[in-house]
Amino acid sequence: MGDRHDLTGAHTLGPAAGRVVERADTEGVELIRFLYADHGGVIRGKAVSRPLLAERLDTGIGHTVAMMAMNMLDELQDVEHLGPVGEVRIVPDPTTFVRLPYAPGAAAMLSDLRMPDGSPWAACPRTFLREAVAALAGAGHALVAAYEPEFTLGHRVPDPAGGPDRLVPVDDSLCYATTGFNQTHDYTMSLVRALESQGLRTEHCHPELGHGQQELSIHHAPALRAADNQMIYRETVRGVATRMSMWASLAPKPLADQPGNGAHIHLSLWDPELGANAFSDPSGRYGLSATAYRFIGGLLAHLPALTALTCGSVNGFRRLAPRMWSSAHACYGMDNREAAVRICSPTGKDAAASTNLEFKPSDSSANPYLSLGAVIHAGLDGIRRELDPGEPVDVDPATLPEGSVPRLPGSLDEALDALEADDVLMNALGPLRASAYLAVKRSEARSFAAQDVAYELFHHFKAF
Ligand code: GLU
Ligand code: MG
Repeated sequence: MGDRHDLTGAHTLGPAAGRVVERADTEGVELIRFLYADHGGVIRGKAVSRPLLAERLDTGIGHTVAMMAMNMLDELQDVEHLGPVGEVRIVPDPTTFVRLPYAPGAAAMLSDLRMPDGSPWAACPRTFLREAVAALAGAGHALVAAYEPEFTLGHRVPDPAGGPDRLVPVDDSLCYATTGFNQTHDYTMSLVRALESQGLRTEHCHPELGHGQQELSIHHAPALRAADNQMIYRETVRGVATRMSMWASLAPKPLADQPGNGAHIHLSLWDPELGANAFSDPSGRYGLSATAYRFIGGLLAHLPALTALTCGSVNGFRRLAPRMWSSAHACYGMDNREAAVRICSPTGKDAAASTNLEFKPSDSSANPYLSLGAVIHAGLDGIRRELDPGEPVDVDPATLPEGSVPRLPGSLDEALDALEADDVLMNALGPLRASAYLAVKRSEARSFAAQDVAYELFHHFKAF
């Protein structure tokens, strides 16, 4: 809240905010969405009209505290301090301003939820990630990351039997098959251009294994920007599809009989002073440093609890099955695509720079700020306690005798039990965020348990 207004009502904006107002004026933007992700993982927000933009950049838009107690079915939960009384502000980060290529006349900014006096709010997810980044900086590191999301492209159609709407995939093309490239070409081109115009650089894309399933990866970025990118990505995948009269879903398992949609997190730690990748050590096993192994040790130690935040929905646990390359086992391995943590073989000319880990139990129903923040806290705990991740697994863990490699939680409730028992993550979340998150997620587990699979699939492909 660097920008203040004087008693005449004029607003003295900082340079970034000033540029946003100027761009909105010159580029014909009429509505500006202030966006955040809630505890249900849903992206929500409010929009301001251009004449009010300068003022709202400063003060934010008023919002009820209760929205952080809302679950993904719009069922409001009873959480202390998050009832009908109380107000926060949705305060946009002007450095995240993007015009929305799929919504002519509109733009958006990613936002923090702040107290009316401008101070941080204890239930703000973006603040949680900022704090995790600061804790990591205190240990001399910076995290660089990229979400690698998959999604299903299709149409939302009524169920002939009168049940919930269904997602019907656009094609039944084979994995990486060129027929799939051709069938979805127009959509993919629109998506690539839309992402590019918002500053997200496409790296690779291909038709994935499942019907209508696509994967499109984007360039990595510092942690906060990586989570912001995941927000913009989710918005764009769905916005472009809607504009083209289709329905895209990043839900973890929108079609029960098809492979799920992951959002694996690629990550590396950097030493900001040296500008060097702290995960790389050419003399280490698989080219990894002691710091990298400790980080893996931290991820594995907190894994059951972490999944409550990185796979934050009932539907997410339908995805985490063996032989789906989504990871179902708590282990790590070199290029092991069934392990929760994959050591990726280096790519490109600079092996040291491209050294990274792929965290697989992660999907796009998670709040990206909570998810990445939790990953940082887990890895940091591994570094601080010098945790040893043990031996890598170099086969499909499903082929090993039952019980030799621990399974990941089989349900959201199981993951939430692990989260409640995890002091490091519970302390990092803090009491308000933790109680709200647990209440919201427990309620989702209850609500979906009382319904059938079609209901679960519908509500997840609708929300994500
Ligand atoms: N669809 C898989 C998942 O649910 C990932 C497949 C892959 O890209 O390796 O995570
Ligand atoms: Mg994939």
